[in-house]
Amino acid sequence: MSEDLLEIDDIYKIYMLSGGVLQSKRSLKAVDGVSFTVAKGSVLGLVGESGCGKSTLAKIILGLESPTRGEIRLSGQPITSISQRRRARRIQPIFQDPYASLNPRKTIYQIIGLPLSVHGIGTAKEQEKKVVEMMAVVGLPRRVRYNYPSQLSGGQRQRVAIARALIMRPEIVICDEPTSALDVSVQSQILNLLIDLRRELDLTYIVISHDLAVVEHLVSEVAVMYLGRIVEQAPTADLFEKPLHPYTTALLTSVLTPDPELGLPETHLGITYPNPIDPPSGCTFHPRCPKATERCKVEIPQPTIKGDRLVECHFPNE
Ligand code: SF4
Repeated sequence: MSEDLLEIDDIYKIYMLSGGVLQSKRSLKAVDGVSFTVAKGSVLGLVGESGCGKSTLAKIILGLESPTRGEIRLSGQPITSISQRRRARRIQPIFQDPYASLNPRKTIYQIIGLPLSVHGIGTAKEQEKKVVEMMAVVGLPRRVRYNYPSQLSGGQRQRVAIARALIMRPEIVICDEPTSALDVSVQSQILNLLIDLRRELDLTYIVISHDLAVVEHLVSEVAVMYLGRIVEQAPTADLFEKPLHPYTTALLTSVLTPDPELGLPETHLGITYPNPIDPPSGCTFHPRCPKATERCKVEIPQPTIKGDRLVECHFPNE
């Protein structure tokens, strides 16, 4: 049986927003009672439209945000009892836009080697050796090590971001939209690289994406998020073959909008994504759901577990 490396246990993140003069504060539930486990060596995909809470959840796992409630355990140990430094050695992120996440004034060598310097690992010579080795692992030519990010292509910059994330040999890598800022022509190269690296370096991934095509090729299990909740979770092949939740069905039939700035899926659901400050009653998906009934408007669906699948819907697809 595979070991549960990461346990996310009933996590909430509630932001209190100022209502302005003479108005009371309002709450925004960015993450609304999310639980899941990630087995060592597995790849979990978190999927949903912008604003569904998946990136907030990633920040909480990385320690960049604190949960309002709930607990995260890493190898069975509460993550709050692990120092931020040690956590950073074990969990590393790869962000969407490699250009924004790389310091334009540092050379590629300095960027990839920075975590080693920060954590005081090895002598200068040892650090240089590690950087050069890691550049080879991610497919970066050695000659670019004294270049600056602006001198590299988008795909090369994402390879730099991957090398920087992996130089400390983390156990878990959180890939937040790892290919959505890249040209279509290089997206598959980066996906294939991530697949190879997971195998070679024995990594565990959490992949955050709005793009189910990315998820299909990379992940073993998918959790679909809607307004801060996981509304469906299933092994990837099962979810693609037979989605149980109407929202998953809509995502699967979606296509990307032509606007790369937005990068949001066109779900063909007609009504726009609801405002999380003022979520709909009952099932929060009901205003957009083609199967909604009167019951859905008033009664919140509870999670139902069927084998290794979870769904939150009064009338899941048969
Ligand atoms: Fe649609 Fe009702 Fe299921 Fe919500 S509970 S997804 S509104 S059928």
